[in-house]
Amino acid sequence: MTVTSPGTPRHRAPGTDDALPLPAADGSVAQWTARYTHAVMDTFGPPQRVLVRGEGPYVWDADGVRYLDLLGGIAVNSLGHAHPTLTAAISAQLGTLGHISNFFASPTQIALAERLLAIADAPEGSRVFLTSSGTEATEAALKLTRRHSAGARPRVLALEGAFHGRSMGALSLTHKQAYREPFEPLPPGVEFLPFGDADALRAAFAHGGDEVAALVVEPIQGEAGVRPLPPGYLALARELTTAHGALLVLDEVQTGMGRTGRWFAHQHPHIGGGVRPDVVTVAKGLGAGFPVGAAIAYGPQAAELLGRGQHGTTFGGNPVAAAAALATIGVIERDGLLDHVTGLGERLRERLRSTGNPLVREVRGEGLLVAVELDRPVAARVAADALAAGFIVNPCTPTTLRLAPPFVLTDDQVQPFVDLVAALPADLAPEETA
Ligand SMILES: *Cc1c(COP(=O)(O)O)cnc(C)c1O
Repeated sequence: MTVTSPGTPRHRAPGTDDALPLPAADGSVAQWTARYTHAVMDTFGPPQRVLVRGEGPYVWDADGVRYLDLLGGIAVNSLGHAHPTLTAAISAQLGTLGHISNFFASPTQIALAERLLAIADAPEGSRVFLTSSGTEATEAALKLTRRHSAGARPRVLALEGAFHGRSMGALSLTHKQAYREPFEPLPPGVEFLPFGDADALRAAFAHGGDEVAALVVEPIQGEAGVRPLPPGYLALARELTTAHGALLVLDEVQTGMGRTGRWFAHQHPHIGGGVRPDVVTVAKGLGAGFPVGAAIAYGPQAAELLGRGQHGTTFGGNPVAAAAALATIGVIERDGLLDHVTGLGERLRERLRSTGNPLVREVRGEGLLVAVELDRPVAARVAADALAAGFIVNPCTPTTLRLAPPFVLTDDQVQPFVDLVAALPADLAPEETA
């Protein structure tokens, strides 16, 4: 073995002579949309806009039009766009050590796993599996679940309205028929229980309860319209899973990493009731825009269900992704963003309620995961009109607008959207399109 001193790497900062140009300046929104249609598979439908740049809570399209991003890449861009601390952390890691295989480890990966265990209040013996997305975090949780009792527990319980991802295993836990049906048969054993129904949960354990490997739930269902579980449900879920030796898996891919004003939604006493889960999955906001996810297993029993060789990933644990996640956690802490999320979320909901617009039936949510429930199925139309007026929001159901804005958003920046909601015509008809 020869030991040499490390050579001097050539660090190339963006914008220097070595940088290749971004393709952004090459066309208008219309031109780029036409090119998209030819080159990209049509799984998402046509893009609403082609975006070229972002800063803080704003993004700009290829025609130079600015939008206030109140969706944050679907609960991902918690630090807004082009955050200097996140950009610096990613660049520094990539310019030092960008990727290694899982035959090796990096201090950044290890430090991230430790930080996740700390913010999760995970007990001694807990461990983390790092992934690159939410659906992979679900896959890790599901494989871990299959190993519970050496596979002797065939039943897995999930809830109606659940969204846990689109890969085949995660899809088996996702409720929506339109997502599932074209890909059947899916991995077997999953049973869907009526959402938030305590009696149905008791009944599911009353017969064959000892054959349940896990109950998998989102503390607040995101894709289904920001639907919180009723108070006491998670406590009951913990009681029943513990009594029958089943795992309680919480999908916090959307609700985790500060989105609701705490690191994890179940840490709110009024949501989690003090329960300690067996597995928590995160992704979306974890890297604030860099693809990274994790399955956190609580305590040695859950943490040791997946043994050597039983699971793997090339990119999971990638140092750059880990650096992004560490920087995200670091900025949220340094800048006091959890408190800001709580305060701004409360003020935003209150202001949306007090518009007095009869079209708005309810405003709900936790922190900066917010739903505006309309009194008729016009969410898609309102979202299209809002986009034309410079606001990005998401009609996640026919009657629900979902907001999941960056944590760096300010009261002043969001006020124009409140004004837009106040001015929505109360006689808006469902059938018209913008
Ligand atoms: C988005 C989401 C997923 C899937 O994450 P991907 O990164 O899109 O694979 C899983 N669970 C929940 C609750 C989500 O919101």
